[in-house]
Amino acid sequence: MAKVVIGNWKMHKTVREATVYLETVVPLLEKCKAKVFLAVPYTAIAACAKMAKGTGIFIGAQNMNDARDGAFTGEIAALMLKEAGADFVLLGHSERRHVFGESNEFIGKKVVRALQDDLIPVLCVGEKEGEKTEVVLEEQLRACLESVPKEEAGKLIVAYEPVWAIGTGKTATIAQASEAHVVCRRVLGDLFGKRIAAKIPVLYGGSVKSDNAKKLMAEEEIDGVLVGGASLDPNTFATIAAGVK
Ligand code: PEP
Repeated sequence: MAKVVIGNWKMHKTVREATVYLETVVPLLEKCKAKVFLAVPYTAIAACAKMAKGTGIFIGAQNMNDARDGAFTGEIAALMLKEAGADFVLLGHSERRHVFGESNEFIGKKVVRALQDDLIPVLCVGEKEGEKTEVVLEEQLRACLESVPKEEAGKLIVAYEPVWAIGTGKTATIAQASEAHVVCRRVLGDLFGKRIAAKIPVLYGGSVKSDNAKKLMAEEEIDGVLVGGASLDPNTFATIAAGVK
């Protein structure tokens, strides 16, 4: 499968800054072999989607609500993101789980809603420092994906992001990341069958930089990377994506 490289801008970049970024990154990614995704702030989705049209770059959001619509002040619905031009949505990012207290149950409902409303869900899972990786991954994947119909499961993307590695400069070793990816693939196989599980890209995220991305992506089990801080600079992000063979 083609490697996937996702940039997560978090709460960075105004529309004006996003536009300058796209102007820089699009030519740099022209010959890139990876599938490139950018998770941008809500306000920048429409402008970025317009600029990314025809480039092969997927634009998406970093969160959404599970309801179709309703009295949920400050929330945003999948249909609104889709209409703005989003192709995908990050769900269950560690900052959503641990800063904003989102539960597996809530995240699972969002995954189902995203699929219903034609957004690719990128489900983020990962253990906190000191927790048992396998136990946490098994619990989060099962709880967040138990209501996904088998015939929809091939549309998912999963990102293994150990919480202790996000924004800390600490990266999982290649062996740790590979082991975690094998666990994810096994649980996906239990849930959806091996044939469907083999189609679901399982990415690594956590302090990915231009100097470690190539090694991580050279691993057979690692289908790509989710990049936070290092995606904010278009040149660095393009270097990471260009490292994909
Ligand atoms: C992230 O935002 O998902 C992430 C992995 O951040 P960073 O690359 O900065 O660790």
